[in-house]
Order: sequence, then C-alpha cells, then structure tokens
Amino acid sequence: MRELKVIGSFSRCPYCDIVEKESKSERLLYENEHFTVIAPYCSKVPYELWILPKDHINHISSFDQDQLDSLGKAIRSALSCLRDNMGEIPYNYMFYQLRDEPGYHFNLKLQPVTTKAAGFEKNTDVYINTMPPETAVKYLQGNFQDGSE
Ligand SMILES: [Zn+2]
Repeated sequence: MRELKVIGSFSRCPYCDIVEKESKSERLLYENEHFTVIAPYCSKVPYELWILPKDHINHISSFDQDQLDSLGKAIRSALSCLRDNMGEIPYNYMFYQLRDEPGYHFNLKLQPVTTKAAGFEKNTDVYINTMPPETAVKYLQGNFQDGSE
C-alpha cells in the first residue's frame, strides 16, 4: 500500500503531526477528548472533513467505549455542521484502518458531494478544489461572510 510506504518514510506518524498542528489551526472544526475534526489542508473536494483520533490507534476495534462515544460525538458534530449550513446534501464517508499495521493511524474521511469530477480530474486524478479549507470551516461554523451584504 502506497500510503504505508509514505508513512514509513517519516520519523513520526504524519497523522499524529496533523492532529497536533491542526488542533491549533483555523482548519479545526470540532474536537473533544479523543477526536479532532478538521478540514484538511489538502482537501480533495469542497467541505471535506477528516475525523482523527488524538491517540495513535490503527483500528476501530482497539477503541475503548469512551473513545467510541467520542467518535460518535465527532461524527454527529461534523454531520450537524454540514446539515445546518448546507442543508441535506449527499456525502461519502470512508473509514481507513489497518488491523495488522500498528504504524497506521485510523482516519475517517467525509466528502460532501457538491461538485462533479470533470475531464481534468478524470484524466489526471488531480482534483481542483476552489474552496479553501479555512473558508469551509468558517462556513460550516455558520461564520461565513463574503462581504456582499
Ligand atoms: Zn498516528
């Protein structure tokens, strides 16, 4: 798996770094005791959100009950922000986890469907996202002002 190779090339888990750095950034949407919800710097689609455990845990089966409760709260918060500020929109969510790879960091990626991949994306697998993640977070928090009012 290509991602594991990349993760292994770092001296520290990149997801642990992301959790630490993004918890102090304007891309942070929500956090609780065990989880962080961010709009990733490298958002593939507008309003993409990542839900990451604060502890380095590779698989959902390793979460204790308190962590599972926190995961539920984080998912509910992310979906509430989407629904409250964007209405009922379709979305995809993907759980990434590897039970037998202790070096992997569980992550849940939530991608609202607000755009369609066009020829450029389909041809190059490079995605054009015109929504900066910092602006997406402001919008999802209900704090977006575009200056036109
Ligand atoms: Zn980690």
